[in-house]
Amino acid sequence: MKSIRIKSGFNIKVSGQPAPEVQSLQKPTRLALLPERIPFVKPRLKVKAGDTVQVGSPLIEDKRNSEIQFLSPGGGKVVDVIFGPRRVIREIVIQLDDEEKQVEFESLPEIDIKKIDRDQLIRLIVNGGLWPLIRELPFRDYPSPDTVPPAIYVSLGNLEPFQPLPEVYLAGSTELFEYGLKVLGKLSADRVQVCASRTNTAIQRQLNGIITLTYSGNYPVHDPGVLVYHMKTSTEENRSWYVDGQNVLLLAHLLKNGTYPTRRTVALAGSCARVKKHFHTRLGAPLAHITDDRIDDSDIRYIEGGLLTGYAGSAHTYLGLFETALSLIPEGHEKGELLGLFRPGYRKPSYSRVFLSALNRENLEMTCSVHGGDRACIACGYCAQVCPVDILPQFTYKAVLAGEVEESLEHGLLDCVECGLCSYVCPSKIELFETLKNAKADFYKEKMA
Ligand code: SF4
Ligand code: SF4
Repeated sequence: MKSIRIKSGFNIKVSGQPAPEVQSLQKPTRLALLPERIPFVKPRLKVKAGDTVQVGSPLIEDKRNSEIQFLSPGGGKVVDVIFGPRRVIREIVIQLDDEEKQVEFESLPEIDIKKIDRDQLIRLIVNGGLWPLIRELPFRDYPSPDTVPPAIYVSLGNLEPFQPLPEVYLAGSTELFEYGLKVLGKLSADRVQVCASRTNTAIQRQLNGIITLTYSGNYPVHDPGVLVYHMKTSTEENRSWYVDGQNVLLLAHLLKNGTYPTRRTVALAGSCARVKKHFHTRLGAPLAHITDDRIDDSDIRYIEGGLLTGYAGSAHTYLGLFETALSLIPEGHEKGELLGLFRPGYRKPSYSRVFLSALNRENLEMTCSVHGGDRACIACGYCAQVCPVDILPQFTYKAVLAGEVEESLEHGLLDCVECGLCSYVCPSKIELFETLKNAKADFYKEKMA
C-alpha cells in the first residue's frame, strides 16, 4: 500500500459534524432530477409533464452526446418541469406511485466481469445511465467512452466539513464495493487506486487489503486531483478518471442487479441541524424530507455538497445527482459587523491569526457571513500558502481577469482542484475560487467546441 503526505491545504475548525450513525428514511412522495446541477451537460428533455415513467426511464439526454442519458430515480408521473432563466431546466419532478415499476437492464454476473469485452461493459454502464458518475481530470466532466484512462482513483472520504463517512455508506456493502472495483479495473486495465485517509482506522479495518493508497494532511488532500498532482510520473496522468466511493456502489448495483439504483446515503450536518447524522434516502429526495423536523432555526442556509464548494438549496428543492451532504448553517446576513474591528473573534473560524480564534482549539460555528467588505489584494500570500497544488491564485486570478489565457495556464490554472480554500482564506474577499473555476470551465468548453 502506498502512502502520501501533503503539507499544504488547511483544515477548517467548524462545529456540527455528522455522527457515524445512520437512519433509513421512509419513501418520499416526490423525487426530482436537477439537470442544472450536472456540470457541463446540455440537457434535452425526453419527457413532459403528465408522462408516466419507471425507475430508470430516460428523463434527459446530453445534446453533446445523445447516448448519455440521465434516468428517472423513481417510478410514477412527471408532475412538473421547472425552468429557470434562459429556459435552463432546473427540476424534473416525479410524483411516486406505490408500485414504482423498474426498467430492466442487462445484468452482469461477477464471474463474467473478467470475460466481458470492455466496449460491451461500457455499453451496459452507458445504457444504465450511470456513465456520468465517472469523471475525468482536470476538467471534471464525464470522460468519452472511447478513451482509456491512465488510472482510476476511487475516493473514500472527503475532508471538506460535513461529508458522509465512508465506513457508514459502505457498511454491509463491502462485497458490492469489491464488485464495483472489478468493473473499474476492467475499464482501466487494473489501474485502480482505492484511496482513504491514513487516520481513518475504521475504513481500513473494513476494507482490509482493498485500499491501495493512504493519504495524510489537510483538506483537500483526499481530492484525486491533489493526489495526481503530487504523485504523477507523466503528464498523461493528468487525464486520470475518478469515482466517489458511494458512486462505485451505484455502478455495482446497476450491473449486478440489472436495475437502476435508487439509494443515497446523505450526511445531515451543520450547527442548525438538530440531528447530525447519516440517512439512507433516495436519489433526488426532497431536502425537506431529509431535514423534516430536524432543524433548529428558521433563518438557515441549506448547502448541498461541500461547505466550501457546494451550492445553496432550500426546503423546496431536491438532492442533486452528485450530492451526498446537506449542511444547515445560520444565514448570517451581515457583511460587516457592527464594531467588528473591536471584537476579538475568539469564536470566529478563520485562517488569519489576527483573531483570537487562533488560540481556540474547539471547532467553531460557521455562518454565511463573510465578515468584512471587498477590497483590493493586500498581498498577504494566504491563498498561495493554502493552495494544495502550488498555484499562485492571486496571480492566476489577475491573468484571468486580464484575459491572458496563456499566462493563467502557465500559473497552473488547469491544476486547480476547485477546493475553494483560496477564497475562504482571502482577507480581501476576492472571488478567487469562482473566477478560476469558471475560467477553467470556459477554457474546456472552448477547447471542446
Ligand atoms: S487555486 Fe484552486 S486548488 Fe488552489 S486553493 Fe484555490 S480553488 Fe483550491
Ligand atoms: S489571500 Fe487575497 S489578499 Fe491575500 S494575496 Fe491572496 S488574493 Fe491577495
